[in-house]
Amino acid sequence: ASIFSDVPQAPPDAIFKLTAAYKADTYDKKVNLGVGAYRDDDGKPWVLPSVKMAKRALLENEDIDHEYLGITGLNEFTSSAAKLILGSSSEAISEKRVSSVQTISGTGANHLGAVFLNKFYPFDKAGGQRQIYISNPTWANHKAIFNSVGIKPVDYPWYDAKTVGLDFEGLTKTLKEAPKQSVFLLHACAHNPTGVDPTKEQWKQIADLFEQQGHYAFFDCAYQGFASGNLDEDAYSVRLFIERRTIPVLVCQSFAKNAGLYGERIGALHIVSTTPERAAAVTSQLSVIQRSEISNPPAFGARIVTMILNEPKLWDQWQKDVTTMADRIISMRKSLHSLLVEKYKTPAPGGNWDHILKQIGMFTFLGLNEKQCALIVNEGHIYMTSNSRISMAGLTTKNVEYVASWIDKAAR
Ligand code: PLP
Repeated sequence: ASIFSDVPQAPPDAIFKLTAAYKADTYDKKVNLGVGAYRDDDGKPWVLPSVKMAKRALLENEDIDHEYLGITGLNEFTSSAAKLILGSSSEAISEKRVSSVQTISGTGANHLGAVFLNKFYPFDKAGGQRQIYISNPTWANHKAIFNSVGIKPVDYPWYDAKTVGLDFEGLTKTLKEAPKQSVFLLHACAHNPTGVDPTKEQWKQIADLFEQQGHYAFFDCAYQGFASGNLDEDAYSVRLFIERRTIPVLVCQSFAKNAGLYGERIGALHIVSTTPERAAAVTSQLSVIQRSEISNPPAFGARIVTMILNEPKLWDQWQKDVTTMADRIISMRKSLHSLLVEKYKTPAPGGNWDHILKQIGMFTFLGLNEKQCALIVNEGHIYMTSNSRISMAGLTTKNVEYVASWIDKAAR
């Protein structure tokens, strides 16, 4: 018998299973609203014009070799990525209090952050539990990532099914009742899967509670620019917390969505310290962890993003590209909303369909139940997760009416 004869079969990943089912479906009107990747109005993957320009320039540059990057990545990349998320006039950066490390996209940043906290966070001062508070619901991988390093994920309230909006009361209650110095994971913008974000005023109140309670803010920022179309606007929460100076903050950054570089696995982890000396020590420890895990991060995506962030022509083009993506998604929100409200007069789960317009970023949480979602998938051939999350990027001017007709059938 094989030494692995007792290894049980693991269940397939829900999203990848959905994509496989979509691919196998031969129905001509099928729609994929499962995957979290941008598609153009023809339902095709989109290579950003700014990325094409950078690739062309890289190809022509004979001086570029294929040596290893440093352990913490390409320095020009990490420093310009830090400015992008923290702001070009960030005091944390000018005071050299930020440790920035290139990671395997946002997933790798979450993982590196998790390993670092597991090694160095004073959990004994935070009620003694090795745990992190994560929103209910959250990106499914958060649970897996923290479980895998030995930090227990515990839920905090986020989504209120009654209002199809934010459970602000539940959230603030947990922030007040959690042991002091607890670690909380926050989605910087465009919350996945709900699309439900706090208002600026609510973010200020959340920051006040972090200050009062001494909590640690673990920001995951996978959609900067994708939410509003404006890169600064989408960094609001992260900058607000860091500018307070009293809240300890870490930021996971991904260029998968906002640069359409999904497969290049390009991201960064930024940890903000109180002094440059602390930051240097933190960087040294991140290097030690990174060395044993991946040795050195990949170069290609780092070079592309560095050019986009630093060359004025590419930067201008990227602003346009980000706006193109955000605007198409916002226009699909308007189409779906008006079809359900005006054409079909579809009964809405929370009383109205305004959440389709209000929710932010790639996803909308329709607010339908599992049975209703199953009908849409099985009879409508429209692939979506059973929690009623749909990727707005999967909607096009050609399929939105068909999708609306099935949401209408399911909701009645
Ligand atoms: N965090 C959130 C909330 C996400 O939605 C995603 C991607 O879907 C990621 C992180 C990481 O993605 P990637 O590893 O492709 O950058």
